[in-house]
Amino acid sequence: MKTLLSFVIPCYGSEGTIEEVIEEIIETVSQRAEAYDYEIICVDDCSPDNVLTVLTALASRNPKIKVIELARNMGKHAAVMAGFSLARGAYIVNLDDDFQSPVYELWRLLEPVEKGGYDVSSASYKEKKESAFKRFGSKVNEFMARELIGQPKDVKLENFEIMKRFVVDEIIKYKNPYPYLGGLLLRVTRKIAVVEMEERERLAGRGGYNFIKSLKLFANGFTAFSVKPLRAATVVGSVCAFIGFIMCLYTIIHRLLYPSIISGYSSLMAVLLFIGGLIMVMLGLIGEYVGRIYICINDSPQYVIRNTINAEGSETESFRKKKTVG
Ligand code: UDP
Ligand code: MG
Repeated sequence: MKTLLSFVIPCYGSEGTIEEVIEEIIETVSQRAEAYDYEIICVDDCSPDNVLTVLTALASRNPKIKVIELARNMGKHAAVMAGFSLARGAYIVNLDDDFQSPVYELWRLLEPVEKGGYDVSSASYKEKKESAFKRFGSKVNEFMARELIGQPKDVKLENFEIMKRFVVDEIIKYKNPYPYLGGLLLRVTRKIAVVEMEERERLAGRGGYNFIKSLKLFANGFTAFSVKPLRAATVVGSVCAFIGFIMCLYTIIHRLLYPSIISGYSSLMAVLLFIGGLIMVMLGLIGEYVGRIYICINDSPQYVIRNTINAEGSETESFRKKKTVG
């Protein structure tokens, strides 16, 4: 029996690169064709370009290429979730569609999960091939992942990971909107190997992530798997209330001792604005959580599938359910 590798690729704006990515996967797996077989699951995240046409053509020639077409743009993480639900392999490889993930390093990345007793193996790049602005965003995200969802220090989740079957099975149990893969993964396991390699430049086109999308993702990570921000808000609120109380006492005593002094208008305004601002921020934070709870109990879909190609017969239980709902 050959070991099946499932490659899951979220596709957005990659009509010019996806074919090369797929070719490289096929070429790499064929180096060990006696032991490994593959399936490639491409999820078109309602891309504005013609990537679906490219995928349809590729899939018509090769039944191992499967395509999921999402009805709406749901973002990378939801697209990956859709792909995961179709994957049948013993190992599931998650990679990008823009040729940045170094697929030729596949075997080195596979080793820790296959032989080393790890559940996940993740590529780590010494140098990210991205703009200074994006790099800053990545740093913020990394910090958040560490502090809020307890991502181990040396682990970096970039754009090239291999997971064992059971990890993915567990991840796709999450049915709520706003999926955040890093958080979902860390709920399952901490046995994550880190394999250093070089990231490549984007082959063509520009990234599908603009500022707003990145911000949305950040909000997902921020709120989805941690209540630490709420706790921090409580602490800050309590400290401010305490300071306010001391100031109150001070003002009263001061007034009693020196009745002729007129209390400062500007200091009063300053405190008022400070406290008012603080309350608004915390209310906003709580509102964000409440809103998300509301949307979750509202049964908003994580993703909606419009169509699939080459997916017949290989559908997992959760995928079938999803499809009938969607
Ligand atoms: N992506 C997606 N939906 C989106 C935006 C991006 O599925 O709305 C996918 C995209 O196809 C790619 C991955 O997310 O496979 C990473 O996107 P990108 O290359 O733009 O991000 P970067 O590599 O710059 O982090
Ligand atoms: Mg990229």
